[in-house]
Amino acid sequence: MINKILIANRGEIALRILRACRELGISTVAVHSEADRDLKHVRLADETVCIGPPASTESYLNIPAIIAAAEVTDSVAIHPGYGFLSENADFAERVESSGFIFIGPKADTIRLMGDKVSAKNAMIKAGVPCVPGSPEALGDDPQENIRLAREIGYPVIIKASGGGGGRGMRVVHAEGALNNAITLTKAEALAAFNNGEVFMEKYLETPRHIEFQVLSDGQGHAIHLCERDCSLQRRNQKVIEEAPAPGITEEERQRIGERVAQACIDIGYRGAGTFEFLYENGEFYFIEMNTRLQVEHPVTELVTGVDLVKLQISVAAGNPLTLRQEDIEIRGHAMECRLNAEDPATFMPSPGLISQYHAPGGPGVRVDTHIYNGYRVPPYYDSMIGKLITHGEDRETAMARMCGALQEIVIEGINTNIPLHQDLLKDEAFRRGGVEIHYLEKKLGL
Ligand code: ADP
Repeated sequence: MINKILIANRGEIALRILRACRELGISTVAVHSEADRDLKHVRLADETVCIGPPASTESYLNIPAIIAAAEVTDSVAIHPGYGFLSENADFAERVESSGFIFIGPKADTIRLMGDKVSAKNAMIKAGVPCVPGSPEALGDDPQENIRLAREIGYPVIIKASGGGGGRGMRVVHAEGALNNAITLTKAEALAAFNNGEVFMEKYLETPRHIEFQVLSDGQGHAIHLCERDCSLQRRNQKVIEEAPAPGITEEERQRIGERVAQACIDIGYRGAGTFEFLYENGEFYFIEMNTRLQVEHPVTELVTGVDLVKLQISVAAGNPLTLRQEDIEIRGHAMECRLNAEDPATFMPSPGLISQYHAPGGPGVRVDTHIYNGYRVPPYYDSMIGKLITHGEDRETAMARMCGALQEIVIEGINTNIPLHQDLLKDEAFRRGGVEIHYLEKKLGL
């Protein structure tokens, strides 16, 4: 029985988790940094513990402080949210060895999927389509690497096995630059991730980013909850997401969905997760799995009617997943705009006091945010301050509702990227649907 959850995160996702707990009648413990005493979920939680100074390395990434907070509050489980410690296998292990339930997969699964080479090999074994590439980490033989790249065909991308957040990657267009690029990426990977392993794969030039949501109970039952299109990105950061992905056929959805659900069973996956794919010329290519809840999970919730956070908690408690694949039906279309405290043109962070906030509303509008009138956005963390999510019977309606919501919402005192979203909602190619991952950066002239 999980009757008390410690929320090891901040901002909108901490509030989202708290709301799920309330619905389930579970008590909540909010842990927070000294800069976050005024966070909305901290005010609403049943208990609060300050775990350290503003810097996240000393608070939200401070494993001993979080475990100690769970101990003193007699928490039963820890929900890591996304970011911070959510994909840290050592943390998951410490949580469980200290006698708490980690709301997520087992540490070994996080480790397996956190290493891009082992993840890719596990997926090849499970029959999930992957980007053509080197089956193992690259060795030191320059001739062998040249041979491999010729076999794959240029351009190729050299990627750090332990990389994350879009770092530790280098595209190579011609043979002359290959071995130098490998040496550089290895050195960078060693410095940044303490793991110098790199591998090579085909570089896809104009793919879309399409990802599949899964839920698995770790007891032999897994389902997929359809796909999301997150191709609108800047510097590998998603800006707008939607579900379902425009133009993806029911046949493609079923084919890939069944594969990823089976892959979850094969690797003994427990919890919610996401399989990310690049999609080009009608083919799906697996790139990585995120072993946690995603920022963009609400678009899936709105089109499937499934509460992903409540189900995460349920399977973590050891309950079997009772939802069957045939229970999952896509209803209409949903879209999410990430709201950031930043300059809409220069993308410089814009922390500070929110002097006015008015939420939008109306049919099919969901706002996931922790901000309120008089809230001060601290300068220490990610600039995302919330998410505007709309749902409608079709894509047109979801977009119309998003346009309305973007007009209605008022955030004063800080700069936000609302004007950027308003522009994007007017963009013809975006409105048609199915833009590729470089579309936004090209449009912005980057
Ligand atoms: P990370 O863990 O750093 O997010 P990913 O493997 O998910 O790394 O890749 C991040 C981004 O890099 C992708 O969303 C895509 O834009 C680009 N990318 C990665 N692999 C390829 C590839 N083979 N071809 C083209 N782009 C790629």
